[in-house]
Amino acid sequence: MKSFKDLYKNSDNKITGIAAAPGIVIGKAYLFSKEKLDINKSPITDIDEAIKNFREALKQSKKELNKIFGIAREKMDEVRAAIFEAQLMILDDPILLQNIEKRISDERVQPEFIVSNEISRYQELMIISHESYMKERAEDIEDIKRRIIRNLQKKRWQSKIEKDLIVVSESLTPADTLLFSRQETRGFVTDHGGLTSHAAIISRSLNIPAVVGTHDATQLIKEGDTIIVDGFNGYIITDPTEEQLVFFKEKQNKLLELQKGLEELKDRPAITKDGREINLEANVDVTGEIDMVITSGAKGIGLYRSEQILNELGAFPDEEEQTMIYSKLASRIYPRSCTIRVFDIGGDKFRLVKYKEPNPFLGLRGIRFLLENVSLFKTQIKAVLRASENKNIKMMIPMVSTLDEVWKSLKIIQECKAELKKDKIKFDNQIKIGIMIEVPSAAVMSKEFAGEIDFISIGTNDLIQYLMAVDRGNDLVSDLYQEFSPVVIRTIDHIVKSAKQSKIPISVCGEMAADTLAIPLLVGLGLDSLSMSPTTILYAKRIIRNFEYKKAKILAEDCLLCKTEIEIQKKVKKFFDDNNITRTRNII
Ligand code: PEP
Ligand code: MG
Repeated sequence: MKSFKDLYKNSDNKITGIAAAPGIVIGKAYLFSKEKLDINKSPITDIDEAIKNFREALKQSKKELNKIFGIAREKMDEVRAAIFEAQLMILDDPILLQNIEKRISDERVQPEFIVSNEISRYQELMIISHESYMKERAEDIEDIKRRIIRNLQKKRWQSKIEKDLIVVSESLTPADTLLFSRQETRGFVTDHGGLTSHAAIISRSLNIPAVVGTHDATQLIKEGDTIIVDGFNGYIITDPTEEQLVFFKEKQNKLLELQKGLEELKDRPAITKDGREINLEANVDVTGEIDMVITSGAKGIGLYRSEQILNELGAFPDEEEQTMIYSKLASRIYPRSCTIRVFDIGGDKFRLVKYKEPNPFLGLRGIRFLLENVSLFKTQIKAVLRASENKNIKMMIPMVSTLDEVWKSLKIIQECKAELKKDKIKFDNQIKIGIMIEVPSAAVMSKEFAGEIDFISIGTNDLIQYLMAVDRGNDLVSDLYQEFSPVVIRTIDHIVKSAKQSKIPISVCGEMAADTLAIPLLVGLGLDSLSMSPTTILYAKRIIRNFEYKKAKILAEDCLLCKTEIEIQKKVKKFFDDNNITRTRNII
């Protein structure tokens, strides 16, 4: 039998993209290509007739979108469904509509040409933007343009395909994604789009595995080809060999096997056999995942990545808007608690065009950005405070590297509290303020940091990246991205001991907590809480309920003496075998 690497990572029939929605599917490809827009620019004589046609096309387009909006509300939560509401609002935009009508009468050419030209102008502005969010919204607008033009040309609305196929397309609009999902589509693959594209967000909400941003999947995959989509790792295997099919079917079966009996654990505690309870919480990236937190059996939200709001909205919401978002979140999750991380802007996330940085990961990111933009920071702090009235919100600061940053932040938080008090606005005056440790300098000084704040959460995604000097998103050096490196384990141990000395809670909220293989070691190192993707919570619970804390502590002590990643991995795997726990990594 060939190794995992030969069958998979190093195989030459693999297409790499971005893992947008988890799961593994095997099926036949359906190449969805949008009809080429054929636009007629011929002159017209009857202006009234042309404007009447345009208004009718608009009415029909609204009718279609309203139908889609209705389906979206049935299948998804309100926030996700609002994508379509936003499209409907564009169809009501008086400036756009007046411009189109005026140009039809001034230029006396077919309305379809004016519509295409006018909407394309908006799109171009969005496409040249540096923000990935804006680029992706340009694709949503493409849907509106095509819809109006199709209705002007009186062509039928084709949204049905055969059942059980994997849709492969250059790009997918939110409406395509939603409508295909009704045909029991098994998966999505696109050439374009990123994690924040609406197609990706909708696939996650609907639980349909998806890989986006492959660049050339539509060139490499042919209609009817059998393909495998791995939405966990962002790979597509084309024309799989017999061995690969067997390998992935086994993975699918293992996944099904692992899912058995999980539901029963939902309301049980994550407690070791000898009685140490671990607080399992959920990481939330997009608002649509809040429902999943509630059904996942998580104790609360250990990391709310608030910068995602900026990706979703494309702008900084004001204090009122943010207060509404956080209050809604707090009340949805109540009586559980929610740790809101203030905007972690920069790096590969939401960035402002005004900062041109050659090395964004080492640049103005997280707290560094917020201290440069104090008024934005204060707006967010006040909104978080205002939403904290029911005492179930904590606030967390990302990318801290010096004590000075903590002192400055605490001072600004005090100022915000004073201003709210002056305005007689209620909030939780005892709100817990914590930091993320994800930069080596903060890890080294964790004792001193622990004396200043209420809790620490270790962000292993960045901590490993910065400890090992390895870009977390670069495939070329991914072998060096070692969560079981002795460097990582010893650093976590140091941070845990610092937190314990100051008697403050300590958690991990990076992907390492979601790597089920790492859980006994993290528990043995003394972590109180682990925060992970909601889909991993029950798997983690089952593992924790199957070993003794005292044995995990011995495992951790042994691992702290190791010199290489391999040695640690061996010990961890042996721990699983000795305790009869099914060994899994990242679920699959
Ligand atoms: C981390 O760095 O581990 C973390 C949780 O933050 P993010 O992945 O959002 O950078
Ligand atoms: Mg981070």
